[in-house]
Amino acid sequence: MKTIGLLTSGGDAPGMNAAIRSVVRTSIYNNARIIGIKQGYNGLLNGEMEEMKLSSVADIIHRGGTMLLSARCDEFKTEEGLSKALNIISVFGIDGLVILGGDGTFRGAKNLHNGGVPVVCIPCTIDNDMGYTDYTIGFMTAVETAVDAIGKIRDTSTSHGRANIVEVMGRGCGDIALYSGIAGGAESIIVPEVDFDIDEVCKRVIQGKNRGKLHHIIALAEGVGNAYEVAEEIEEKTGTETRVTILGHIQRGGSPTVFDRIMASKMGNKAVELLLEGKSGRALGTKCNKIIDVDLDEALNTEREFDIELYNIGKILSI
Ligand code: ADP
Repeated sequence: MKTIGLLTSGGDAPGMNAAIRSVVRTSIYNNARIIGIKQGYNGLLNGEMEEMKLSSVADIIHRGGTMLLSARCDEFKTEEGLSKALNIISVFGIDGLVILGGDGTFRGAKNLHNGGVPVVCIPCTIDNDMGYTDYTIGFMTAVETAVDAIGKIRDTSTSHGRANIVEVMGRGCGDIALYSGIAGGAESIIVPEVDFDIDEVCKRVIQGKNRGKLHHIIALAEGVGNAYEVAEEIEEKTGTETRVTILGHIQRGGSPTVFDRIMASKMGNKAVELLLEGKSGRALGTKCNKIIDVDLDEALNTEREFDIELYNIGKILSI
């Protein structure tokens, strides 16, 4: 393995830059060339790539986003797109790839692996929605952003005696709502993994009010449905003014937390080591704080297990 290619694809996540830095520096340390490919699979198909040096990744560990840029690429999903990619990889003399992204990106990587190109994937998505790993890079930074927002919203909700739904990201996964709800002291947490009873939420709003509480924060995962409809129902049933704040893409940006930087540094390093050992079709992850690598098929087919214990603790702590 003399030349390694590196790309970031799909939704960006804070910590991608820290992973890029780790991949580049570990490659150069091991006397391998490292080629940065711009805009995910798009840049691969267009041959948008250049060799990276130690200095290419100076001053990026603390930056959100991805210096290699990200994009979606439908052409890459087609057979023609794949063979074009395989051809370009061979023309540019790339012996293996490190690929950063979420499950869609991993599916694309699997096709490259099947086409004979060694690939190792690093899970980068704020959603934490990949079942084979406890953790995906970017999650904790997104949670910090959501917790910060919940604190600010609580201030103004208290002043006005309002309830406030804070809608957070996560696609079908409720982890951002669960973690930010608990850490931010939300009174209710609503996630797609657990059926919710609007009457129970309303009861909590009324009970809180009766105890003299001036605010009621509801952390709601985007996968649950329409936050405005939930707010309307709460307002109707409790008589408490209920506002909605949708945090949106603010959760995807910002300087990565220490935890994300460390995870990204570890996984970037391990990805290069695996390629240099001749491994392919592997996905990195963590189990019980240890870095693991599993077959890409396993990574793509393991269903996510929701942390119901943590959810139940959240319910107890917010009575
Ligand atoms: P994420 O990696 O964040 O889940 P996407 O699902 O948008 O993001 O996937 C990113 C890119 O990965 C897509 O634009 C496409 O190029 C590629 N990709 C996604 N799904 C597949 C698939 N089933 N087969 C091949 N490539 C795919």
